[in-house]
Amino acid sequence: MTTKKQQCPEFPYFGANYPDACCIDGYLYDLDDCDDNGNLYDTGERIPCPFCNKEEFFKEFDCDNDDSVGKIVYESIVSWVKKHYPDYVIED
Ligand SMILES: [Zn+2]
Repeated sequence: MTTKKQQCPEFPYFGANYPDACCIDGYLYDLDDCDDNGNLYDTGERIPCPFCNKEEFFKEFDCDNDDSVGKIVYESIVSWVKKHYPDYVIED
């Protein structure tokens, strides 16, 4: 077990082809969803972060099922992050 806390990567999630999702305290926020001062809106939608809150993300999107959309989404996020954040360690 490592105690070193790494910042979760930002990645495309909310439909953009650039990183539009950022993790705050284990949940994803839409970076495009903010006011003029850059304050992010809390939309009330609680999407668990697939990195630091992976267990909940998997539960929410049924990722343990290989045929689920959640699993496909998860794998596409992971491959995007691996490509763009080569130094980021993804825990299994
Ligand atoms: Zn996170």
